[in-house]
Amino acid sequence: MSLRIGTAGIPHSAKPRSTEGGIKRVAELGMGCMEIEFVRSVQMKEPRAAKVKEVAEAEGIELTVHAPYYVNLNSREADKVAASRERILKAARVGWAAGAQSVTFHAAFYHDDAHGDVYSKVRREMQELRRILDDEGNGIDLRPETTGSPTQFGTVSEIVKLSQEIDGVYPCIDFSHLHARTNGEYNTYDAFAELLEFIQKELGDEPLRRLHMHLSGIDYGPKGEKKHLVFPEADMNYEAVLEALIDYHVSGWLICESPVLEDDAQILQDAYNRLRSKT
Ligand SMILES: [Zn+2]
Repeated sequence: MSLRIGTAGIPHSAKPRSTEGGIKRVAELGMGCMEIEFVRSVQMKEPRAAKVKEVAEAEGIELTVHAPYYVNLNSREADKVAASRERILKAARVGWAAGAQSVTFHAAFYHDDAHGDVYSKVRREMQELRRILDDEGNGIDLRPETTGSPTQFGTVSEIVKLSQEIDGVYPCIDFSHLHARTNGEYNTYDAFAELLEFIQKELGDEPLRRLHMHLSGIDYGPKGEKKHLVFPEADMNYEAVLEALIDYHVSGWLICESPVLEDDAQILQDAYNRLRSKT
C-alpha cells in the first residue's frame, strides 16, 4: 500500500460535479483517493453507491466517507443520540456499498460531563455500532476523528484508546484539528513524529499502514477551530507532516479539506512526491 492523497468531496473542476465525475477528476489530477462528504445528510442510495464503486475501481481511486456533522453520541436527549447512531450507520452502509474503506465522524461533545464519563458513553455506543455493522457483514472501518475544539470529544489519547479497546475501530487523525485545538501547537516535525510513534506503540504497525487522515490550512483561536484556510494563508506546517509520514512509512488516505480542494490537495501531492524522492 502507498499513501494516497485526495480531496474532501468533489473537486471544483470536476465535470460533471457528481461523485463519479469527482472520482474521474481526482484520477486525472494524479491523486489516489477521494472522501465522499455526507456532511449534511446521506443522500446517496445504495444502488447509486454500487455505480460509484464501479467507477472508483475502474479509475483506481480509493474512497473514504465523512458522516454527517450532526452527530453527538453524548447528547442529553435520547432521540438525538439515536439519530446520531442512525447517521453513522447510514454513512457506513452507503459507504460500504460504494467500496469505501473507512468512515469518519466527530463522535460527541463533552458538555459539562467528566471526560472519563463521556469516553465510557462513546465507547458503549461505538461497540454497539460495530456489532450492528459486523452482523450485516459490513467491514468498513469506524473512525472517530481527532476534533478541532476543546469542547469536543476527540483527543489523540481518547481516539487511540477507543481503537485499542474495540476491534474494527481505528483513528482518523486530523492534523489541522490538533493544531487548532491546541491554539497553534502541534505544528512541528517532532510533534507529528511523536504522534505517529504513540499510535505505533499503542496500536502496533498495522494502523500506520492504513491510516485515515485530514490535512489542510486552518484558522483558530483559544476556542480551537474557526475555519479551513488555503495553505498559502495558513501557518499549517504541512511539509513537516509529510516528512513525518514518509519517515514512519505511513500509508492510507490523506484527505485535504481546503476551500480550494484540488489546488491544495495538489500542493500536498507535489510536496509529498518531492520530499519522498529525496529520501
Ligand atoms: Zn471531520
